[in-house]
Amino acid sequence: MEIAMTREMYKEMGIDSEVFDFCQKIASGLTERFSKIDQIAEYNQLKVVNAMQQCRASEACLYASSGYGYNDVGRDTLEDIYAAVFHTEAALVRPQIACGTHALAVALSGNLRPGDELLSPVGKPYDTLEEVIGIRPSNGSLAEYGVSYRQVDLLEDGEFDYENIRKAINEKTKLVTIQRSKGYQTRPTLSVARIGELISFVKEIKPDVICMVDNCYGEFVETMEPTDVGADLVVGSLIKNPGGGLAPIGGYIAGKKAYVDNAAYRLTSPGLGKEVGATLGVNQPFYQGFFLAPTVTANALKGAVFAANVYERLGFSVVPDSRESRHDIIQAVTLDSAERVIAFCKGIQAAAPIDSYVDPEPWAMPGYDSDVIMAAGAFVQGSSIELSADGPIKPPYAVYFQGGLTWEHAKFGIMMSLQKLYEKELVQLP
Ligand SMILES: *Cc1c(COP(=O)(O)O)cnc(C)c1O
Repeated sequence: MEIAMTREMYKEMGIDSEVFDFCQKIASGLTERFSKIDQIAEYNQLKVVNAMQQCRASEACLYASSGYGYNDVGRDTLEDIYAAVFHTEAALVRPQIACGTHALAVALSGNLRPGDELLSPVGKPYDTLEEVIGIRPSNGSLAEYGVSYRQVDLLEDGEFDYENIRKAINEKTKLVTIQRSKGYQTRPTLSVARIGELISFVKEIKPDVICMVDNCYGEFVETMEPTDVGADLVVGSLIKNPGGGLAPIGGYIAGKKAYVDNAAYRLTSPGLGKEVGATLGVNQPFYQGFFLAPTVTANALKGAVFAANVYERLGFSVVPDSRESRHDIIQAVTLDSAERVIAFCKGIQAAAPIDSYVDPEPWAMPGYDSDVIMAAGAFVQGSSIELSADGPIKPPYAVYFQGGLTWEHAKFGIMMSLQKLYEKELVQLP
């Protein structure tokens, strides 16, 4: 096919030739990088298919259960599949888990008892966890149940503060929580290898401490997962990477059987645990989404690498930078002005398959200390494995961008963000 045809099609969809040519040049320089991403996806694809085969996934697994959901073979087999992929004894994969925060709250409150202490050796956790833990006083927080919390920040250079981590571990320390992704902070995302080093250090000091990893946005970015390097529990959301864009809801907890069971007793009820919980009709998209997750994650990663290269080339600061190795799917771009943040997000929205005609505006969202603009035109509400972006309207005027079910769509979204900046003369093409 002629590249001219594609250029014409982009033009019809609002992308000027100047923007197309600039982006095309950047994309053609990324072949080698993308082939490394494909190699990881290939390995992870086999890992998932192997698990499905080993666990004898069958047509009956895709059927719906209702009511109590006793003996839901699809649900139970899918949990075995997750356990096989994460190399753990057990897993809990449920539509009753409302989101990532809920999965983390269930894992924490299921495994902590009054008098226990929770330690984060990697600095402040994700915003929503502050209320779960009680860092910000909140109804029903762990603090209200007598669970104390300690935190050791990363050193200025992003390294672990081993000396203070050693000091922070005491007889009360029951669970150590490690967040893999930087989330919306500026610290680097942790590689699986680094998480392994931290866990070894912690276990040397206190072998029976539970090491839990918040795996959100990290699944399938590498060939290894935190449970391959000593994590006792990994926790994540199905409307991010492992849902493959198809899961309409849900979360997972995988790890040592006793800890997963404890989480299940909290999710449903003491005594009932994993035995109840109908899956209604979600087994089919849960299976198919997990099957697609390695390549969907690869597509999102390519989008992030492309965005880093486009915006770095235009002189903006990007985290991670254009060449760095990747450990999650989030890309931050510092655009230095509110107008640019708004234009960027309007571009992402305009490229969406759903709600593309909606014009996003900054607003005062609950829980944020500045106006925030969000762009998302997703098949699943709030799904951030789908192409999405958000930016707080305050210095340094950074946008956080993630997702893209297909590389082609992620590329179009980033081109559209640049188009909006270009039209408003907020950026100069070289
Ligand atoms: C998204 C995310 C969460 C919370 O997930 P929600 O589904 O938004 O509740 C927690 N931790 C990290 C690192 C995340 O990226």
